[in-house]
Amino acid sequence: MDLGIVLRTASSVMDFKNNLDKSLKDRKYFFDKGIRFSCTQCGSCCTGEPGIIYITQEECDKIAEHLNISSKDFLQSHCYPFESAYSLEEHADGRCLFFENGCQIYDLRPSQCKTFPFWFKNLRSEHAWNQVCKDCPGIGKGKLFDRSMILNYLSK
Ligand code: SF4
Repeated sequence: MDLGIVLRTASSVMDFKNNLDKSLKDRKYFFDKGIRFSCTQCGSCCTGEPGIIYITQEECDKIAEHLNISSKDFLQSHCYPFESAYSLEEHADGRCLFFENGCQIYDLRPSQCKTFPFWFKNLRSEHAWNQVCKDCPGIGKGKLFDRSMILNYLSK
């Protein structure tokens, strides 16, 4: 293909993406006034139904260092491969391996846990959000997360 056509096509794709990003940032959301949230460490989101707890190599390395074991040992004993990274293992009942009267690695918890409850699937509609509010007692308490902070979480 002609290089000029390739460059014009790439430029059109970038323009489309930038316009889409802008329109998503400019539109109104039910959380425009922000949402208060402070985790009570009740464990509702770390227990129950089994699920994926996505964790990157870098996050594994930090937790392994904290536990004073090698990353290799940590991966073998606490994780399994998932997509391009890993998932933390859970107990048979679905409880995260690190949940024991609160999160044992709270400051080092994976990004998936740090960004909860501000996940796309929870914020895609007010109805979805109201469902999450029923299970998470931390919503409505503590620190105010403003619109731009929430959109920033959604872009992660
Ligand atoms: S459900 Fe909410 S309050 Fe409970 S541990 Fe999860 S984030 Fe924290």
